[in-house]
Amino acid sequence: MKTFTRFAGLMADLNGKHCCVGGASGGSDLAVKLGKHGCDVSLVDQDTVDPPNLPRTYYRKGDVGKFKVDALKAHMEEAAPGTTVHAHVAKIQDVLTDAYCTGPNRPDLLLGLTDSLDAQAHVNDMAVKHRIPAVLVDVHERAAGGMVTVVMPGSPCYRCVAASRFKAAERGDAQVDLDGARGLGADIGFIDAIALKIALALLSKGTDTDAGRFLQKMGKRTQVVVRMHPEYRWDAVDLFDLVLADLPSEPRDFKRELQDFAFLACDTLWLTPDFDPQCPCCAKAGA
Ligand SMILES: [Zn+2]
Repeated sequence: MKTFTRFAGLMADLNGKHCCVGGASGGSDLAVKLGKHGCDVSLVDQDTVDPPNLPRTYYRKGDVGKFKVDALKAHMEEAAPGTTVHAHVAKIQDVLTDAYCTGPNRPDLLLGLTDSLDAQAHVNDMAVKHRIPAVLVDVHERAAGGMVTVVMPGSPCYRCVAASRFKAAERGDAQVDLDGARGLGADIGFIDAIALKIALALLSKGTDTDAGRFLQKMGKRTQVVVRMHPEYRWDAVDLFDLVLADLPSEPRDFKRELQDFAFLACDTLWLTPDFDPQCPCCAKAGA
């Protein structure tokens, strides 16, 4: 029962496209929207719904205590009838295997929507190894900002883009997993909206549609830094300030004008990341 209608020309027909989503917490809204756009979705998460999740997620009171993926599957079947949803109460590492990526359920797109570095790394590594496009969403502390990384054949991978996070893990730093869950639902929703926009573009790749053309226009800008708070800094650097620094100060001080009168928050920077020559993942893939 595929009965979705949408405005012609905006996106390719996504009926039958399959997205594998690691993490069903902050990304639960995003998963529902993928279903509403016609995608079949596999949900992977091993946690249950807790009351503090409710303000920031798609879950509701009656879901508390249930496995997130089971609750979300039920909501998606209601909200996006006709969409096939698979629920896996498991770690992404146990579902997204070589056999899965090469079998009949091979996904068309992977999404890494967790705070766990290990989980994000696994989604990345399988994306590179099996040449499946992936979108990885990091929501930084209190959702003051975040990062959306696109991994596709020929692009630097998540380990290249988030190299500082992986180096911190190697050093044994205590805090390598993120803590975006304490953020406002409004901020998390904005960051997820960027990820959804890119996900739909990737699924429409090569088509003469708005979404397909968006991907073309995006080109190699596969790292999107999102600022939700005016004082957000990423890796202790104000990237937005850095970018504005290139603006001429003559005949007018454009940087100051933009800082004072235009830029505030809910800004995005679309960057072209470099390959990390030491990246264990890209090196193995021969990128
Ligand atoms: Zn890499």
